[in-house]
Amino acid sequence: MVSKKRPLTICVDLFGCPNRCRHCWLSHMPNRPMEEGADAWIVDLFRPFFEEIEFYSWLREPDYCDDYRARWERDKALSVGCMPERFELGSFWRLVRDPSYAGFLKEVGVPVVQLTFFGLEDTTDRYIGRKGAFKELLKATDILLENGIAPRWQTFINEENKDELVDLLHLSEDLQLKQRTEAVGQAFRFFVHPGTCDGENRKLYPVRIQKSHIPEELIPYVLDYDETLTEQEWCAKWQDDTSHYVPHNDGRIVLYISNTYDLFFNFTHMKPEWRIGNLKTDPIEELVRRVKEEDIPALNEARSITLGALVRRYGDPSSERAFEDDDYKMYLLNQHLEQKGIE
Ligand code: SF4
Repeated sequence: MVSKKRPLTICVDLFGCPNRCRHCWLSHMPNRPMEEGADAWIVDLFRPFFEEIEFYSWLREPDYCDDYRARWERDKALSVGCMPERFELGSFWRLVRDPSYAGFLKEVGVPVVQLTFFGLEDTTDRYIGRKGAFKELLKATDILLENGIAPRWQTFINEENKDELVDLLHLSEDLQLKQRTEAVGQAFRFFVHPGTCDGENRKLYPVRIQKSHIPEELIPYVLDYDETLTEQEWCAKWQDDTSHYVPHNDGRIVLYISNTYDLFFNFTHMKPEWRIGNLKTDPIEELVRRVKEEDIPALNEARSITLGALVRRYGDPSSERAFEDDDYKMYLLNQHLEQKGIE
């Protein structure tokens, strides 16, 4: 029997998500209720193989179910040898619909909630996939502050929205978010990044931001600006690289489970080539072996192609699109898997 020592995190898509963001790195999936008791059944499947299991009933929108208080208690009760965490996340959908939700976030110790914008009203609504989303984000910002929780504004930049993000920064200044967040004992954070290039975000490659097009006023807010290079620079840097890009869980193993019981690592989008197997149709012993040995088609293919070969085949040496290191590697690997039709 393989060691049970490595801790496991399981995130199950029990309730889905109200949004359909155009940057969603997981990729869009229908909301579909899972069977009654699916949560305990899943934990029991893994229990013989792991001493520590951290259980989350969501992997898309936290607290999307109406009984989110009871749900949080149940996530804690189902976890084995540890407790799930809250992170700096919450549901802006619920914040504007449920007057007691902000109080709940406060009770469970959430000091900051991240809110995602894509520009001003029309652009944010279009990118989140819901009319009214932008107004909800502004209202959620106020509700958080009224409850002593700091909002954090995250933005994803591309060629289409780069100038609007400057307007959004100005809006955050007009709303005095810096001062109002300091009044609740936190620093207000506004940050900008190009995002990953997998899932839905991969479709935005044609409008991916060119590094030289990032408005000067936004540069201080860009995460890891100096480590963000152009596609051209990455191609030149890795042209002859003989290493392999193989995503890997160090220590804790994190697994995502879709509402159709498909099992995935947390490396990239939940597409067939990244599927470890299905909890309903594959024996659990075999699934755990694949998890612990990281033996799935996508990772086996990643071990067979060098980074140099990936950039030579799929990189565009004339492109000035901006990428961070791992985001560009994952983009290249997914290009390769798609070209080869790996499933
Ligand atoms: S990015 Fe998050 S909120 Fe948006 S569709 Fe994906 S899971 Fe839902």
